[in-house]
Amino acid sequence: YSKIRVGIVGYGNLGKGVELALNNNPDFELIGIFTRRNIDDIDSNSNIISFNKVLDYKDKIDVMFLCGGSAKDLPEQCPKLAEHFNTIDSYDNHKNIPNYFNMIDNIAKKSNKVSLISVGWDPGLFSLNRLLAQTIFPNGQCYTFWGKGVSQGHSDAIRRIKGVKNAVQYTIPSEKTIEEIKAGKNPSLKKEDMHKRVCYVVPYDFEDKDRIEKEIKSMPNYFQGFDTTVHFITEEDLIKNHSKMPHGGRVIGTGTTNKKHKHVMEFSLSLEDNPEFTASVVVAFARAIYRLALDGKKGAFTVFDIPLGYLSPKTGEELRKELL
Ligand code: NAP
Repeated sequence: YSKIRVGIVGYGNLGKGVELALNNNPDFELIGIFTRRNIDDIDSNSNIISFNKVLDYKDKIDVMFLCGGSAKDLPEQCPKLAEHFNTIDSYDNHKNIPNYFNMIDNIAKKSNKVSLISVGWDPGLFSLNRLLAQTIFPNGQCYTFWGKGVSQGHSDAIRRIKGVKNAVQYTIPSEKTIEEIKAGKNPSLKKEDMHKRVCYVVPYDFEDKDRIEKEIKSMPNYFQGFDTTVHFITEEDLIKNHSKMPHGGRVIGTGTTNKKHKHVMEFSLSLEDNPEFTASVVVAFARAIYRLALDGKKGAFTVFDIPLGYLSPKTGEELRKELL
């Protein structure tokens, strides 16, 4: 029995999380971490390799973890790497997933490799739970709530406002709405009813507070219509109290069987560190993509295509005995 040899492409939050998660999974061997930056600038005890040399490792790596950003890195890196490696990524641009899947599927089918895309918690574990809820309650409802957690997109949007030095935005689910759902009221909801937004903003000049707050609250798509609270704080306070990356959320499915019997199924996550948790999910699924490759499969896959037993290092026999 030999270990699954893996590489990490991109050493940001997720890449560091994968490096950490591999320590808890002794059936993997980390061959190297590939970065576009100068390797001397990277602080890690792992083998740091320039991304330019990645093709030298074609036959030395069984699965490559692609840990670049979804906006720019993955659409560029995954097509190149899927030509030569089995890959796994956590592409999270939900709207564009079908296009991304088709592009990678074409490449991986030609190269006889497997690529598992959009793994993590959303997309990922939440997607699986939406599928369960929808198929178990064909006439039911399924709701997704996010938070409490930091939204990078919303934090970035605030930082683009003139006079803002730094900002962090927390998305917080509305407990009132969640209670209504669990009580079986099946509310039809606007997205504004589902989440509140709480912003911590460091202004260059505290005199600009009112204008900045108005601009935040009137930003279409991001804040307009939402219950939004804005706190102005110092940079010190932001660094001290708002530097962590917590996140989480819930997928709640509701349905009725006969008229009298209501059912609720809920999957909930509460994460102190979003990228570290995401990385742990990705590592478990890497085991599965390795097994798909051994099965002789090729092309792109998503979490929907993976037999759950493939995630575990245990045998089918052990799983049947211990967990079934
Ligand atoms: P990130 O920290 O911004 O890293 C992205 C890339 O930027 C890295 O791969 C790295 O590439 C480069 N980079 C990192 N730190 C840098 C620095 N100090 N200076 C210059 N370049 C730097 O992003 P992340 O937090 O790891 O997230 C990666 C992606 O994961 C996100 O885009 C998101 O789509 C996805 N994600 C998905 C889920 C899910 O549930 N599906 C959850 C969380 C995140 P080089 O090493 O090559 O420079």
